[in-house]
Amino acid sequence: MEDERTKRVVVVVGGGVGGALLAKELQFDADLYLIDPKEYFEIPWANLRAMVEPSIAERTLVNHTEYLTNGRIVTSQAVGVTDKEVLTVDGRTVAYDYLVIATGHVNTTPRSRRERMEQFQQDNHKIKSSSSVLIIGGGPTGVELAGEIAVDYPEKKVTLVHRGSRLLEFIGPKASKKALDWLTLKKVEVLLGQTVDLDSMCENERVYTTSGGEKVTADCHFVCVGKPLGSSWLQESILKECLDNKGRLMVDENLRVGGRKNIFAIGDITDIPEIKQGYLAQKHAWVVAKNLKLLMKGAKENKLEKYKPSSSAMAAVSLGRKEGIAELPFATISGCLPGFIKSRDLFVGKTRKQMGLDPHPTDTS
Ligand SMILES: Cc1cc2nc3c(=O)[nH]c(=O)nc-3n(C[C@H](O)[C@H](O)[C@H](O)COP(=O)(O)OP(=O)(O)OC[C@H]3O[C@@H](n4cnc5c(N)ncnc54)[C@H](O)[C@@H]3O)c2cc1C
Repeated sequence: MEDERTKRVVVVVGGGVGGALLAKELQFDADLYLIDPKEYFEIPWANLRAMVEPSIAERTLVNHTEYLTNGRIVTSQAVGVTDKEVLTVDGRTVAYDYLVIATGHVNTTPRSRRERMEQFQQDNHKIKSSSSVLIIGGGPTGVELAGEIAVDYPEKKVTLVHRGSRLLEFIGPKASKKALDWLTLKKVEVLLGQTVDLDSMCENERVYTTSGGEKVTADCHFVCVGKPLGSSWLQESILKECLDNKGRLMVDENLRVGGRKNIFAIGDITDIPEIKQGYLAQKHAWVVAKNLKLLMKGAKENKLEKYKPSSSAMAAVSLGRKEGIAELPFATISGCLPGFIKSRDLFVGKTRKQMGLDPHPTDTS
């Protein structure tokens, strides 16, 4: 194996779906640093199941040290970048030869895996001890949480308030209609085109007034509105000109940023014209891993792999443990088939395998 000192330094910022996989892929080819505010990687689409079944988090929360045995982990938030270094909120500077930005969406979850597990326990307690639950936000997070509660706790009254005129606006109207029909069948009350004033809410209040003047009585609430993109830290940096008007990093066909030869971006943070999904962030990671390995071996520019945006968007939304909705290139389907694909294991075993981990670590069989 190459000597550590002769290896190029690759810094990956963001240990989410794309960044964690990329760091794992490059750890033996580069002097690898992963910068992430959390000590662990989490599978975002399994978080709603973890709120009704906290033990699943044993498999869905993975300390970065578990899959990154040959890399260095900097548990901090990046706040700036220069031509040579990444700056972190606690005053560290991490020098790089190559930089990959994978900061998808801002994550406000706790620093340690243990605290994150406790958070799921607390959410679960909140659900169990309430007879009525208000969910604010009808994107994938709100719809999937409503589905989990409706299936596991059918006796609870669930109300979902959504600002938009249809649920799941990130995919087509057919999927929205199927989600609404399914939730209605499960006795979830869905209020569209309305908001709840978050500032005037407090945890002990039981009556919430929507912008449409409706009163919703609920023992507890969960805010499931979309998280902001994780690019504000770049706004005053050398990459500020590379952000589009939505705050996404503009990348070229090799997934490089702003014509720079040594800076790449992957995942939800990019302006790639395709749906924002984890499996696509993973595809970006594989392309950049390949390109970095080529560059570190001195390959010519024209040998670099090009990324082709996915024109045939696919997305799956789970509805409890057995059912779901899938938007495929040729049709939108709902029921047990998409449930079989996503809702049973939520791709947890598959994702763990991709990270080089045992898919079912607690199995005794
Ligand atoms: C409810 C729900 C269901 C979904 N279901 C699916 C599905 O079934 N299949 C699918 O493929 N996709 C699904 N997705 C989408 C998928 O989760 C995202 O597309 C994916 O997480 C994007 O990966 P990423 O690596 O770009 O960013 P993220 O996974 O958002 O990771 C970003 C990482 O960067 C870190 N970070 C942010 N800012 C900084 C900073 N300044 N410094 C250092 N680190 C920072 C964060 O802490 C985080 O670790 C779902 C999303 C949701 C919300």
